[in-house]
Amino acid sequence: MSFTEQLLERFLSYTAFDTQSKIGAKSSPSTQGQVKLAKHLMQELQQLELEEITLTKHGILTAFLPANIAHAPTIGLISHLDTSPQCSGKNVQAEVIKNYRGGDIALGIGDEFISPVYYPFLHQLTGKTLIVTDGTTLLGADNKAGIAEILTALSEIKKRNLPHCNIRIAFTPDEEIGLGMHYFPWDAFPCDWAYTIDGGEVGELEYENFNAATAKVTIHGRNIHLGSAKDKLINALTLACDFQQLLPVDEVPEKTEGKAGFFHLQRLTGDIEKAELHYLIRDFDIDKFELRKAFIRQAVDKFNREKGLRQKAEVTPTDTYKNMYDVVKTVPQSIDLADKAMKACNIEPVHKPIRGGTDGAWFAEKGLACPNIFTGGYNFHSKHELISLEGMVDAVNVIIKMMELAVK
Ligand SMILES: [Zn+2]
Repeated sequence: MSFTEQLLERFLSYTAFDTQSKIGAKSSPSTQGQVKLAKHLMQELQQLELEEITLTKHGILTAFLPANIAHAPTIGLISHLDTSPQCSGKNVQAEVIKNYRGGDIALGIGDEFISPVYYPFLHQLTGKTLIVTDGTTLLGADNKAGIAEILTALSEIKKRNLPHCNIRIAFTPDEEIGLGMHYFPWDAFPCDWAYTIDGGEVGELEYENFNAATAKVTIHGRNIHLGSAKDKLINALTLACDFQQLLPVDEVPEKTEGKAGFFHLQRLTGDIEKAELHYLIRDFDIDKFELRKAFIRQAVDKFNREKGLRQKAEVTPTDTYKNMYDVVKTVPQSIDLADKAMKACNIEPVHKPIRGGTDGAWFAEKGLACPNIFTGGYNFHSKHELISLEGMVDAVNVIIKMMELAVK
């Protein structure tokens, strides 16, 4: 069997596991399907004769392949086991379309379709082998394609006896709900730097993400019978609408792109007595990020002054993750190596800021540089998710090349 066939077979076998993570679950990992996949992968790692294979009670699978050349660095490769809670990952029926002719693709019985009219990137995929869903679930290329690519790369490195650095592998649960890193076994993962294999289109190389915080603004009102409400009733909901007007109208996700930051009102709850506005605060630049947090505090102060309320509004900003670039830039070889490997594979690297977070941001918190590399997939977290087999092969080749160039 060629490595391309093996790669496809591996990936399809992983999509059969329902590993959807669940927000608000009390256990870690949040769902048992992730553990089932981890146990299956553990067997594959054993067949590949990796060392130090460990599955923690929180569903984190790690393993080690020692270098076959002296004085080699240690590089980590990471993918996540779970799929998005936003779209079902149960009973995934992947379909393989060989030699895509262009035009619309009917999914399953045809209730859903994907079209180059909505997804112009399909034009670039003509002639390729595409893996799509039957239109009822997501595919799970995010991030099972990454897992299949890492394992296929390891298998090829061993089979062809290629020179390689020390390689550490980690497959983590609950990335999609931001909880996978809480129980990460740091001591079992000593690396010089690492990569998440969790990006999209071929060539993507990401090493900058938002600095992120949440802020909850609480506003208090006073309820009273509406018949005698004049000058007495204070409506927390109306006040909440007034507060929202204090924020810059153009600095929202729907009006920004690239490296521009924003305030995003993601939830507004409450009644007459009490209202809560839940914001996401995002910025790539750490100084601007701090200014944004200060801005929302000042907005609350201004609001309290202007409204003259007896019970003052409160705000609590809480940091969630940091831009990984501050750490990545101290390990520039992590970017150089990925660039060189892609070019050696005839792939033009596309450096892109991530308008979100990744597990790499959590690794950066611990001082480990961890850029993100493409898997070859598109439309993640959706019934329209798809991936090209050629893109997956590119990812495997880039991983192999990186491990090889790291010892040169
Ligand atoms: Zn992912």
